[in-house]
Amino acid sequence: MKTALRTCPLCETSCGLRLTLDDAGSVLRVEGDRDDPFSKGFLCPKGAALGRLDEDPDRLARPMVRVDGQLRPASWEEAFAEVHRGLGGIMAEHGRDAVALYFGNPTFHTMAGFLYRQPLTQTLGSRNVYSASTVDQMPKHVASGLMFGDPMAVAVPDLDRTGYMLILGANPVESNGSLCVAPDFKGRLRALQERGGKVVVVDPRRTRTAELADEHLFIRPGTDAYLLFGMVHTLLAEGLTSVDMEVTGLDELRVLARDFTPEAVEAACGVPAATTVRLAREVAAAPSACVYARIGTCTAEFGSTAQWLVDVINALTGNLDRAGGVMFAKTAGLEIFRSGQPFATGAWHSRVRGLPEVLGEFPVATMADEIETPGEGQIRALVTVGGNPALSAPNAPRLARALAGLDFMVCVDPYLNETTRHANVILPPPRILQSPHFDFLVQIIMVRNYARFSPPVLPLGEDQFSEAAILAKLLLILSGQGPDVGAEVCEEMLLGQILAAVPELREGLDGADGTERILDALLRLGSYGLSLEAMRRAPHGLDLGPLQPRLEEILCTASGKVDLAPAVLAADVPRLLERMRDPAPETVLIGRRHLRSNNSWMHNVPSLVGGSNRCTLQIHPQDVARFGLGDRARVRSAAGEVEVSVEATETIMPGVVSLPHGWGHQDSGQAVARRNAGVNANALTDELVVDPVSGNAVFNGVPVRVLPV
Ligand code: SF4
Repeated sequence: MKTALRTCPLCETSCGLRLTLDDAGSVLRVEGDRDDPFSKGFLCPKGAALGRLDEDPDRLARPMVRVDGQLRPASWEEAFAEVHRGLGGIMAEHGRDAVALYFGNPTFHTMAGFLYRQPLTQTLGSRNVYSASTVDQMPKHVASGLMFGDPMAVAVPDLDRTGYMLILGANPVESNGSLCVAPDFKGRLRALQERGGKVVVVDPRRTRTAELADEHLFIRPGTDAYLLFGMVHTLLAEGLTSVDMEVTGLDELRVLARDFTPEAVEAACGVPAATTVRLAREVAAAPSACVYARIGTCTAEFGSTAQWLVDVINALTGNLDRAGGVMFAKTAGLEIFRSGQPFATGAWHSRVRGLPEVLGEFPVATMADEIETPGEGQIRALVTVGGNPALSAPNAPRLARALAGLDFMVCVDPYLNETTRHANVILPPPRILQSPHFDFLVQIIMVRNYARFSPPVLPLGEDQFSEAAILAKLLLILSGQGPDVGAEVCEEMLLGQILAAVPELREGLDGADGTERILDALLRLGSYGLSLEAMRRAPHGLDLGPLQPRLEEILCTASGKVDLAPAVLAADVPRLLERMRDPAPETVLIGRRHLRSNNSWMHNVPSLVGGSNRCTLQIHPQDVARFGLGDRARVRSAAGEVEVSVEATETIMPGVVSLPHGWGHQDSGQAVARRNAGVNANALTDELVVDPVSGNAVFNGVPVRVLPV
């Protein structure tokens, strides 16, 4: 038996784990690491199932190559040769825009996924780059970029010191924080209450977070921007502002907020005017307060507006960049990547729908258009890395059909799933426990500065490629160097770029492979002067202290001030105002998050399917009676129709129904997932409706009809 310490890589919460393995490398027990200074022994059911997930018998052990229409096991040499043939031929004949890249959510959590994302994109040189960011969080980056200059400057609630927390469209008791990393979020909220603070949740469902809160308010899905504007209006009208930093746009904001009186927004969002006024007064009066809004507010048609107004309220009430308000984390290895250049969108536009590029990518909501529409720049080949857009994109069935029509597709993925089943080549990364782990990106959104490095628990087998080596080989193929050049060439190239200004650092670098040496370099160049050796000496992780005020360091708008009324966002306000008068749809669909699930890829572990994690349609009993439903219902939207089990519950607003996302595994190569297939909520979502500022897909507030079966 062997004990190993490890960061849980399954979601962004980064809990420290203590694993017990047998001699064959099988995980016998998973416990929370009590000596981890950040997670302090916390773990959730997903983390507890890490071993089962890692040892999933349906995980691909070898590359797969399509021969005569069938995916068959192949050697790595055969697989890379086929990638070279397929992608090389398409690039030579149709140009680089004919090849698209898609990065899924897991690529934000692996070291290789982070380190190779930008180099792969730059090397390919295609405008057709997509990622999971435009299915969940792009509005946050856009709002941060436009207000603070840096799209990665995400203001995080100072959860452990705040005196008041207003949560919109987030369920952190089940997610443990999204764009706000806090292991044991529930315990931290309870601590907030015990020190005399207040938690208010605004959500169309009475979630587990709402159950714990001091107050829960229902809101009509997709209308958070109205409530937030009503609060901004109140703060300005009542003189409740205490802005203690250099800002610009305050006068413009006053004009923009003028028509969003609490009375006017009440009809649109369903929150009584008096409540909107009270919330604004409470945030302003609290000794410290933070407004936090997440996926329910991002995946809406005015997602960027909502995210902007969240930080406007934080700034107006003096809670931006101060203890107990919202603050900016200081990472151990990422600060050198901050460009210092003001953020802008729309350097180029998508070919078919004219949607602006944001952070160098197009919305996944338009990927099917770009595949299906003939002409110069049409996507003919796709490379996916750790993503399942055939389930996660809006109107997923259309995208799945488009994928089936591609000339060539390569997937870096451990599973034969709804997306990779269309591939010509699948390149499986090794088991989770065979890879080193360091959360580069997640450090941006932690409620406390913290870093932890986990070396691989198990060695690579002789016939395995690390994820970094797979991505390096792909990069070399895309660069025209062919399939036979060793991955180490690429690693050395990346290191050369990072150390361009300090080449002398290269000599003393530490690490078992190129990925670890790159980490060592970034740590040495980072804010805390750490090194890989320093991380090894702290196997439980390093507490780097509470968040500190640092807006001045990261602010890089053109004006050098916080922009309270960015022009791009202000330009969308007339549309918001116009929509305020539209009649609300009779019934709308929202998503929901389960504690035992994270998107589409954890449904092949028996302990993670079943219990509370079931793919049902939550609906209020009044609506069950109104629609004459039995055990099952048919849900129909402009995009499609599904038939699903009914779960009547008073925890959801009348007029709102909820389906969890990530289900619909009828075509999966994973046996447990196929037996627990569920239905895909994205058969109902509409790819033609997006937040036009960020391009983010709209998954909340989708008009539907509910019919008896
Ligand atoms: S919350 Fe659960 S899945 Fe996420 S890191 Fe912690 S143990 Fe892992």
